[in-house]
Amino acid sequence: MPDFRAIFSQIEDMTEDIIQLHRDLVRIPSVNTGFMPTGDETPVCEYVRDWLAEDGIESEILGRVPERGNIIARIEGRNSAARLMFMSHTDVVPVEEEEKWTYPPFSATVHDGRIYGRGASDCKGLLAAQLMAMRLLKRNGIGLRDSLILCSGADEEHGGRYGFGWLAENHPEKITAPFAVNEGGGTPIEAAGGLTYILGVGEKGRLQVEFEIRGVSAHASVPWQGTNALYRLSQLLGRLQSYEPERDTSTSLFAHLSNFAIEHAPSRGNVDEIIAEVSEDNPRFASMLTALSRMTITPTMISGGIKSNSVPEQIRLTCDVRTLPHQDEGYLRSELNMITAGVPGVSYEIDYMAVPNASDFDTELAEHIQAATAMALGREDIQWVPAISTGFTDSRFTRPLDIITYGFSGSHPDDDPMLSNAHGTDESVGIASLVSGTKIMLALACTLCGAE
Ligand SMILES: [Zn+2]
Repeated sequence: MPDFRAIFSQIEDMTEDIIQLHRDLVRIPSVNTGFMPTGDETPVCEYVRDWLAEDGIESEILGRVPERGNIIARIEGRNSAARLMFMSHTDVVPVEEEEKWTYPPFSATVHDGRIYGRGASDCKGLLAAQLMAMRLLKRNGIGLRDSLILCSGADEEHGGRYGFGWLAENHPEKITAPFAVNEGGGTPIEAAGGLTYILGVGEKGRLQVEFEIRGVSAHASVPWQGTNALYRLSQLLGRLQSYEPERDTSTSLFAHLSNFAIEHAPSRGNVDEIIAEVSEDNPRFASMLTALSRMTITPTMISGGIKSNSVPEQIRLTCDVRTLPHQDEGYLRSELNMITAGVPGVSYEIDYMAVPNASDFDTELAEHIQAATAMALGREDIQWVPAISTGFTDSRFTRPLDIITYGFSGSHPDDDPMLSNAHGTDESVGIASLVSGTKIMLALACTLCGAE
């Protein structure tokens, strides 16, 4: 094994280089609106390709369309099979109200230990740390037993149809490794006097339900001659608002609550009580426990009515639904049937956007991430808990390929996760997290791929 102490101090000495790399990545505006033509991720790929080539690291750019490339780089080990894949994405979400930003969103301005810009945290920070780890493996002449892959995908923010979704379908051999580390976890939580990291092991599913509510049209001057679909809608909305989803404590996080000084074993019966206690000191964690203990059905959009003087005959209501890993479409259907029972004129259709997914927590990858983090931070007192995230990432494409995939970005414990503001105004990343992330990624590659 290499001398990690020496390499970690080398990484600290290279902080300016890490900042420069990260700022260069943020300054390429790979904005993904979801409507083609968009994304334009290829310039990011070309920058990465040229940057890696400075150290002789080879890469290729593959894309469903030329302007939306995915970059795949490899450091070959003695065995050509890869054991670890560094994952991230190159696209960023649009900037909504630029005038609210303190610094221009693509300026990558450095202020007070942070770099500000769209994509600074999601996901160019992780990409920069992974790239720097690869550079340092090469520069220090560290040979690997098994190969290492880096893949940064396009279109993560709008379904991955040009990114990992496309790669998984068309070039699975390019992204084959037993283990992968991606965004979607690694949040440090200081609780019960210790440091706890959340390891992202899975994701809630996302579905969309389209309700159609039908009535009978009539002239609005004689409304009794029709049936107003809006009144039926109000009944349905009332049912949705008062719906109490079944409580569920089967996700792996609930088996680890003792790390947070939560004494009682959580169950369906007491989980709301536990959440109420937690929310006093740690509202963010309470919100996470709420999300992971139930399915949510949230009305988000409505359309209907055709004329100001017509009783509306048809209304459409869209709902966002988030399911736990074991809740399938049949489960949702039975809940919806219960909610709509007795409300006349209501029908619905279900559309899957992302299937819920999870990797085991008890794996070699988890052990190596924990060891690498302890080493990089010089701390032995770190606790780990697995969590299912409420959003979804490209990990949902790699988990079905039997790649154990965890969300872990290597954030520094002093870097307040609330400041990163991914997808929001003044998105930023702490420079300390770029440095700790680089150390962790490098140590992970060395131990998992067998540095020799
Ligand atoms: Zn992301």
